[in-house]
Amino acid sequence: MIVAERKPLTEIIKAVAPFEKVLVLGCGECVTVCMAGGDKEVKETAAAMAIARKKAGKELAVKTQTVERQCEFEYLEAARKLVEEADVVVSLACGVGIQTMNLHYAEVQTLPGVNTTFMGLPLQQGVWVENCLGCGNCVLEDTVGICPIARCSKSMLNGPCGGSQDGKCEVSKETECGWHLIVERLIKFDKLSALSEVKPPKDWATSHSGGPRKMVREDVKL
Ligand code: SF4
Ligand code: SF4
Repeated sequence: MIVAERKPLTEIIKAVAPFEKVLVLGCGECVTVCMAGGDKEVKETAAAMAIARKKAGKELAVKTQTVERQCEFEYLEAARKLVEEADVVVSLACGVGIQTMNLHYAEVQTLPGVNTTFMGLPLQQGVWVENCLGCGNCVLEDTVGICPIARCSKSMLNGPCGGSQDGKCEVSKETECGWHLIVERLIKFDKLSALSEVKPPKDWATSHSGGPRKMVREDVKL
């Protein structure tokens, strides 16, 4: 899932200062699960914005809605009435949802209300860990299901650096060494000898380093 966190309220309040009619728009998918942009956070954000404006001695007309999924055009039609009534939209969806809104409703600005952070796994309630960077050429079969790109701080591909200690990464004692985990899995599945094979440099052209990516299914004509 995509993990995000709400921007500081002071930042959101400052961003909407020039506007009088605001729609706070949530998304019912990932940001609801990570408690950044679901219906509850939408209502909290709207209330905080209205209170802050009132304290400043001014009025703010703030409305709220949460669509099922903000990253697909077809779900955005449900918000048309409130979008057209608003001077500005504050989206609590991820960066994809915010951009989908700006494309679909090009006459209205949709501002970000969250910081989109990473693709990750919910380990337990309230805890998410990054585990894929979308490199475009997955190597999880070589590393027995642990990503060396996302889980190793240096994205090493030929084994650990010299900084791993007691299973922790040298960048932080809080961070598990991805390669420690990989080696444990290789031993478990009797595949440790695979590490002696030297991997050539990775072709990062399939990742974001190759520029913005686009995927077109073979049967789709553009
Ligand atoms: S190897 Fe690439 S695609 Fe596979 S999990 Fe890691 S970053 Fe994601
Ligand atoms: S200590 Fe482990 S996770 Fe950290 S950079 Fe080195 S190999 Fe990667």
